[in-house]
Amino acid sequence: MNQVDYLRISLIDRCNFRCQYCMPEGAELDYILKQQLLTDEELLTLLEFVFIPVGLTRFRLTGGEPLLRPRVLELVGAIASLPQTQDLSMTTNGFLLAPMAQSLYNAGLRRINISLDSLDPDTFNQIIGNQGRGRWQQVWDGIQAAYQVGFNPLKLNVVVIPGVNDREILDLAALTIDKQWHVRFIEFMPIGNAHLFGDRGWIPSEEIRQRIRYRWGLTESQVCGNGPADVFQIPGAQGTLGFISQMSECFCDRCNRMRLSADGWLRPCLLNEAGQIDLKTALRNGISTAHLREQVRKLLEIKPEINFKQRDPGNTKGTYTRTMSQIGG
Ligand code: SAM
Ligand code: SF4
Repeated sequence: MNQVDYLRISLIDRCNFRCQYCMPEGAELDYILKQQLLTDEELLTLLEFVFIPVGLTRFRLTGGEPLLRPRVLELVGAIASLPQTQDLSMTTNGFLLAPMAQSLYNAGLRRINISLDSLDPDTFNQIIGNQGRGRWQQVWDGIQAAYQVGFNPLKLNVVVIPGVNDREILDLAALTIDKQWHVRFIEFMPIGNAHLFGDRGWIPSEEIRQRIRYRWGLTESQVCGNGPADVFQIPGAQGTLGFISQMSECFCDRCNRMRLSADGWLRPCLLNEAGQIDLKTALRNGISTAHLREQVRKLLEIKPEINFKQRDPGNTKGTYTRTMSQIGG
């Protein structure tokens, strides 16, 4: 059985972008109220006395946009300095990254994933919800800053959207040739957004690989923190190419992760909320961390039975109402 040792922690559900596949403009999103967010202290208590003792020792900070979390540097520092933290990483849209990259590194963050769906400022702007063309440059500056500072591996996440950015697959893959950048192509998931992209569907990873293979060839490879990605490399390239194929392949049997939402719900699966535990309310009601530990241990035991496919087997289009920013992607 897979060892579940990885926790994705959503620091905030808000975001400064409105990516059409995640927080479509005009969508009714019920934001978590400030007083409902887990405080830094509550999060650190859960890490130290609940998650780490049950074996969850590798953490990824995400959101919404994690860099919008107040005092994020202090929080990164506190999590990095817990003696049992084995790995700490972050997924960010990169918009606020350039001036923060060095401080994040100094605070103890070593691995970072930055979303970059396009190399073209106009397409990028269209994807992020028409927030202004200048945003692409600011994200690009964030990527360069993270590279200079020494984040390793530095991964770039690309959600491939048919008819929007799929023509850039080769250009994005080419970023891995001269630099140790790791580009990961993510199959677009119609969650909370089916009305926008439902008709265009999604492009299977194998089709993306074929396009790249035809141009350069591809060999199998490895990179630290693969997670569910299948990793390949253009022969001779410095970086790698990852493919996250949650639509075309079921990797539930390889799943090693749990998710903590910004308001303190612990969930065993991205799209199946069976067994979820409201840890924040429990903490605020004075339930002991020893009791919570037992609850989490039990949830870990039943996790293999809670998965993506079995949630709704008839739902072949995979349409869900919660968006990634709400789940904590
Ligand atoms: N705001 C940060 C960012 O964009 O990197 C972190 C949170 S975001 C929800 C985490 C990842 O989920 C991003 O790489 C984003 O592209 C991906 N994502 C969001 N909605 C998605 C969808 N519908 N299908 C596939 N990936 C999605
Ligand atoms: Fe924000 Fe990330 Fe969602 Fe885009 S994908 S809207 S950047 S949370």
